[in-house]
Amino acid sequence: MSNLDAAIQDLIIANRILAREEVVDAYGHVSVRHPDKPNRFLIARSLAPELVSPDDIVELDLDGQPVREEHRSLYLERFIHAAIFAARPEVTAVVHAHAEDTLPFGIAQGTKLRPVIHLGSFIGAEVPVWDIADKFGDTSLLVTDMAQASDLAQCLGGHRVALMRGHGFAAAAPSLIEVVRLSVYLPRNARALMRASQLGGAVKYLSQGEIEAHNRGYSPHSAATWRAWEYWANRAGCAHLLTRPGGGGTG
Ligand SMILES: [Zn+2]
Repeated sequence: MSNLDAAIQDLIIANRILAREEVVDAYGHVSVRHPDKPNRFLIARSLAPELVSPDDIVELDLDGQPVREEHRSLYLERFIHAAIFAARPEVTAVVHAHAEDTLPFGIAQGTKLRPVIHLGSFIGAEVPVWDIADKFGDTSLLVTDMAQASDLAQCLGGHRVALMRGHGFAAAAPSLIEVVRLSVYLPRNARALMRASQLGGAVKYLSQGEIEAHNRGYSPHSAATWRAWEYWANRAGCAHLLTRPGGGGTG
């Protein structure tokens, strides 16, 4: 299997996982940098992630434009991916989603979304909040061009994830499995924090040392990481698409 075919297959798995885990619904998308052409990335045409198959994957440049003639509709917000890939050479996978549990933390200013559970450590110690209105005034809140997307990428900076006020989040990672895992645990961490806050009293966040200790123990190609990818792919009904680690997959 070529690098490109393997990347597309893993991208299909990622789409199905994010749908099954309710990170995305009809909206939201995941992309991966082209394995052989770093100035391009792969993403589905405008389609609900649960329904994506290999024929739906398109190749875009870092301005968010298709590299081949394309008559099908593309995601309006594909620029988010283009701008993050352009700004972050080490990033190979990006997710944008509207997961409901993350939304309050982009709206309320009293409580910051930070890691409170061990698997939440992947989101990083700080999660910046990007407000499209700061620079672009009254908009639909959707990111519809490169100027808006670049401003979001600038707010993301070197972080793993940025919340988008009243809209959702954008996440970036060095591999597809990492961005999927981060996107799955981000809403769970948000939910735990929300519930803990309702119990009253001070909330105890993970310390910087705890975040670092947990992340130090992580390897994108370990058996434990593969276990999660395999588990999620099975739940999403696409275990038949799995390639073993080292067999060309990103698992
Ligand atoms: Zn969106």
